[in-house]
Amino acid sequence: MTSIEIIQTDITTLAVDAIVNAANNTLLGGGGVDGAIHRAAGPQLVQECSALGGCPTGEAKITKGYRLPAKHVIHTVGPVWHGGDKGEPRLLENAYRNCFRVARHHNLTSIAFPAISAGVYGYPMADGAKIALSIASEEAAKGGFERIIFVPFNSQAEKVYRDAAAALGIG
Ligand code: ADP
Repeated sequence: MTSIEIIQTDITTLAVDAIVNAANNTLLGGGGVDGAIHRAAGPQLVQECSALGGCPTGEAKITKGYRLPAKHVIHTVGPVWHGGDKGEPRLLENAYRNCFRVARHHNLTSIAFPAISAGVYGYPMADGAKIALSIASEEAAKGGFERIIFVPFNSQAEKVYRDAAAALGIG
């Protein structure tokens, strides 16, 4: 059985097999959750990332977690929101699905996601949460994961996730 959980916290504190980073195409660090993950992991993370050659939007790449309590970081790049008719939903779906694909490939069973694209990239949080939770529910049905965790960063975001989960009949 997979538990799909919503935990309002700082994602860098979670001791899971992998936390997901909402990175940018360079993978060389940035603001928001990306900055927090790099600060908590320490300088070896950017060193490993710099050998990866960046990451196209919607794809995902894995590194070690270094000083993080998480064993790995799966770096993905969500779309920048341009109003919704520039393929943003498909790109966000790809980002979530590719994180699960990479996690499965490495036999990881617990994974935590921030609200990919919902910060500086401007994706409407409720729409993003619906995509994230729907894909998690599909992945849970396939088996292999013990815990799939969504990590809203404040109480408003937590409510958005809880409402989306309730609407989808999750949790
Ligand atoms: P993006 O560029 O993909 O929009 P951001 O980092 O700007 O990425 O924001 C993504 C989400 O991550 C936002 O909802 C933001 O509030 C949240 N966030 C920022 N720092 C953390 C953190 N330490 N843990 C979990 N979520 C965080």
